[in-house]
Amino acid sequence: MATIEMKNIVKEYGDGFPAVNDISIDVADGEFLILVGPSGCGKSTLLRMIVGLEDITSGDMVIGGTKVNDLAPRDRNLSMVFQNYALYPHLTVYENIAFPLRLAKASDSEVDAKVREASKTLDLDEHLQRKPGNLSGGQRQRVAMGRAIVRDAKAFLFDEPLSNLDAKLRGQMRTEIARLQKKLGITTVYVTHDQTEAMTLGDRVAVLKRGNLQQLATPRELYEQPVNLFVAGFIGSPPMNFLPATVEGGQVTLPFGTFPLAADKAERTAGKGLLMAGIRPEHFEDVSVIDDGSVDTSRTFEAQIDVREWLGDQQYAYVPYDAEAKVQDQLRELAAESDSESLRTQLVVSLDASSTDTDDENTTLFIDTDRMHLFDPASGENLTVGL
Ligand code: ATP
Repeated sequence: MATIEMKNIVKEYGDGFPAVNDISIDVADGEFLILVGPSGCGKSTLLRMIVGLEDITSGDMVIGGTKVNDLAPRDRNLSMVFQNYALYPHLTVYENIAFPLRLAKASDSEVDAKVREASKTLDLDEHLQRKPGNLSGGQRQRVAMGRAIVRDAKAFLFDEPLSNLDAKLRGQMRTEIARLQKKLGITTVYVTHDQTEAMTLGDRVAVLKRGNLQQLATPRELYEQPVNLFVAGFIGSPPMNFLPATVEGGQVTLPFGTFPLAADKAERTAGKGLLMAGIRPEHFEDVSVIDDGSVDTSRTFEAQIDVREWLGDQQYAYVPYDAEAKVQDQLRELAAESDSESLRTQLVVSLDASSTDTDDENTTLFIDTDRMHLFDPASGENLTVGL
């Protein structure tokens, strides 16, 4: 097992394209680190530089304390787990796991001891004589990991291992990978474009955009304290709502009303002109389902809900609003950059399952302005981070 230190890593391809731009990330021994971002952000390139499949233009890659810039992939002793697990269909599970040991000319007794130990850890004992084609996706994944553990790889590297699977299997495999990684305690770097995978698997998540590291943090911190508009819009489903806002006299004005704002947030943002407010769907509620007397009426507004999606344990409601052309342009730009669905001028709010339709769908909603973020619309910086 080992630490992986990426120090000011730059990758320019032959045509001068900067695919990775000065990225520094330290992965701790045993940590599960996720590289996430939209297509083309450089995450696969970065992973390939860790493994040695891609040259580094400048910067240092240090694995287990040793600089590996010039080491061939086979000398780095890392184990890459591919999308299709690359198992040999004609070999049994036993021989698939044993494969790297046979290549290294290990003795039969050593092979047997190591395969049996891996098989016990991975719960594959009863499948050792079967062929990969007859196994479930989860079992195949375990065989691929077995092959990685027998060679005492320093780290596991995954490149979008679940992207070919249907949604249900993806969920199962995600849990399986998380469980195995915890059990084995092997340093792991995992590339995905899927924010749900990133949030559920990672000890820490590195969010990349166009070759630049945007934020490196725990899933909770990314969700609750995104440093900029890109991270705020990329993490979370349904995504954070973005609204034009101005702050004055301790109050924030949004398209559907003016509400009190916490003093520290107001102080940081007062007099800054037009801002972008960000608020997550769950920070709204239908006032009629909140216990009597506990609602701060200065933070409520009348909303015209046009569609409700009832999910059983909660519901999403859509509230269109008007915004000037400039704001609409900003929202479109943000949607394109964060690779998310188009951000229309509508709120998506997550309401309690017991909230019911009114005749005219005119519902009084509570907005928790304490949980609101305020962004500089030009730089994208979160002005209220940490508050
Ligand atoms: P995806 O999820 O689509 O695979 P990614 O985030 O993994 O995207 P990379 O494959 O790392 O992105 O590519 C990063 C950038 O580098 C892209 O803009 C891509 O066009 C460019 N790139 C990748 N490989 C090469 C190459 N061999 N030559 C030139 N440019 C390349």
